[in-house]
Amino acid sequence: MDLYEHQARELFEEHGIVVPRAEVTDSPKEAREIARRLGGRVVVKAQVKIGGRGKAGGVEFAADPAAAELTARQILGMDIKGHTVGKVMLAQPVDIESEFYVSYVLDRAAGRFLAIASAEGGMEIEEVAASRPEAVARIHIDPAEGVTSAKASEIAEAAGLPPQTVDVLVRLWEVLVREDAVLVEVNPLVRTEQGQILALDGKVTLDDNARFRQARWGADHVEHADALEAAAAAKGLNYVKLDGEVGIIGNGAGLVMSTLDAVAGCGARPANFLDIGGGASARIMADGLSVILSDPAVKSVFVNVFGGITACDAVADGIVQALDAVQLTKPLVVRLDGNNAARGHAILDERAHPLVQQATTMDGAASRAARLATAN
Ligand code: ADP
Ligand code: MG
Repeated sequence: MDLYEHQARELFEEHGIVVPRAEVTDSPKEAREIARRLGGRVVVKAQVKIGGRGKAGGVEFAADPAAAELTARQILGMDIKGHTVGKVMLAQPVDIESEFYVSYVLDRAAGRFLAIASAEGGMEIEEVAASRPEAVARIHIDPAEGVTSAKASEIAEAAGLPPQTVDVLVRLWEVLVREDAVLVEVNPLVRTEQGQILALDGKVTLDDNARFRQARWGADHVEHADALEAAAAAKGLNYVKLDGEVGIIGNGAGLVMSTLDAVAGCGARPANFLDIGGGASARIMADGLSVILSDPAVKSVFVNVFGGITACDAVADGIVQALDAVQLTKPLVVRLDGNNAARGHAILDERAHPLVQQATTMDGAASRAARLATAN
């Protein structure tokens, strides 16, 4: 998950990297106030999770607070490479003497981190790497050793960066490690005419596996292309939207994958992937059903559970309670097998919901769900 520039800026500041004073807003009127607080002249910067904003008109100088309001009005709502600008950051302008590029990125293939640095910052690093590869230094970092002052000096020297950048290189590594990032990038890192080193732009990508430790960023920065996926993620479900008509709920990723295949083998298309894992509780079942039933493309639902530690009777209880919580509007085919399957069947038989059918085999259940979905 990528952070916005203003969030990256905040992290840099917390780790002692010097950044320009700046504030964020979604209102042009407030932009005027912020510009006043920052001393009048400001840079107005679109907050979108995509690079090259400058060239696209998303980074503009404003000479005074009135101009800042006007510029903010112009940039807010702008479309930059498919990203709509919802907020702008107003930053104090600095007098740039030179622009550098520095980043640390996880190099999975090498099992290392990679430092990429260049004294030719400001423009896109891919362009520099293509036209003048010798201007881009690439140095691997042993994750156990990290970026010490010695390592930072090696990087700065290889890239031709001034010695004052060594401290920033060490602190940027701290950002990567402490904030659970897999990428940190500063472009440009600048030396001002007064000789100060500042980070003028930042990109930070956090490790999704560490999301539980990064609650600070909330769900706000998680971008889901699909509204159903966003709703499922909000409920903590492991759900992926597909474009078919048979809703699928199963326990265990492998079983769910083969359930998708079984449905496809019967001539229907799965509407989603949903793995409820080991915790087939009533709440998870109700949450899963409500997400799937809110998908207008779904014509039938197939619940495929193999009882293990969570036995089939517990799953059946979960389904029964879910049926009280969620109004079932489409036929539901349930296949329970494994631990306590017979008790699970009995519980569902007793509930006798008119839209719930049971099947004993996975193939039988798949073909029934497929038939129900394609019948009309
Ligand atoms: P992007 O990389 O998305 O185009 P940047 O934040 O890097 O956006 O801004 C583009 C350029 O604008 C920078 O390379 C820098 O030259 C200039 N710039 C950005 N912020 C400032 C600032 N606070 N003061 C002066 N110039 C800036
Ligand atoms: Mg930039």
